[in-house]
Formats: sequence, C-alpha cells, structure tokens
Amino acid sequence: METSLHDWLKKLLEQTAAAFGKTGKLTELEIESHLRAWADLVHKVGRLRFERGLQRAISRSEFFPRLGAIESHVSTDVKLVGKLDPKCPACRGTGWERVFSGRTVGGKPVDRKVGAVRRCSCYTVEAIGER
Ligand SMILES: [Zn+2]
Repeated sequence: METSLHDWLKKLLEQTAAAFGKTGKLTELEIESHLRAWADLVHKVGRLRFERGLQRAISRSEFFPRLGAIESHVSTDVKLVGKLDPKCPACRGTGWERVFSGRTVGGKPVDRKVGAVRRCSCYTVEAIGER
C-alpha cells in the first residue's frame, strides 16, 4: 500500500529540517503550513517530481527552501513530447503532410512536382512531466 500523502510529506519535512539543523525547531504552525503548501504542489506535479525538486532545492539552498525554490527546481523536469492523430487522413499518422503549393520554411515557392513536407495540423507538442 502507498504511504499516505500526509505521512510521506511529514517524513520529507523531517529530513529537510534535519538538513538545515532545524530538527525539532519548527513550530506546529510552520509544520502545518509547509505540509499544506507541499501537498498542493504534489497534486500539481506528482510525488516523484516533487521529491526530486525538493532534493535539488535542499542541495542548492542556504536556508530552509521556500515553496517557490522547490517549484523552480521541479519545473526543469518537464519534457516536450510531440503527439499526433494515428488515424489522421491528411498525414496517415506520420505527422507530416505533403503539400504542392505555398512556400517552404526558407521562403521559396514549393516545387509543384516534387512538393514539400510540413507538420500536419494534427501534430501538437505537449509538456509532459515525469511521473
Ligand atoms: Zn495528421
């Protein structure tokens, strides 16, 4: 069974506190506010990315990391992934469409016999986070 989010975050908070010599020095109010803010971020990015972001923030911060510092280290994990429609009639699932008119990326007119390829309209780029 998966550890409850609260217990998991509490353990991370204890480790973070220890890394900054604050074991047992955080007030109940500080603990609660950290846990609440961290839980919100975990819901957005997932546990794995949150933990990595936190570890990076710890290793690069002089003081107990603020949420913004953790968040900025999390976002570097985002990958851009191309997606297309495998049943698209225009490109037949290749993501590329052959055209025989218009201009190329370089601004030259497209050769009407040879044609040119361009990204099909079904092709989109999505930001995917590691989970
Ligand atoms: Zn297509």
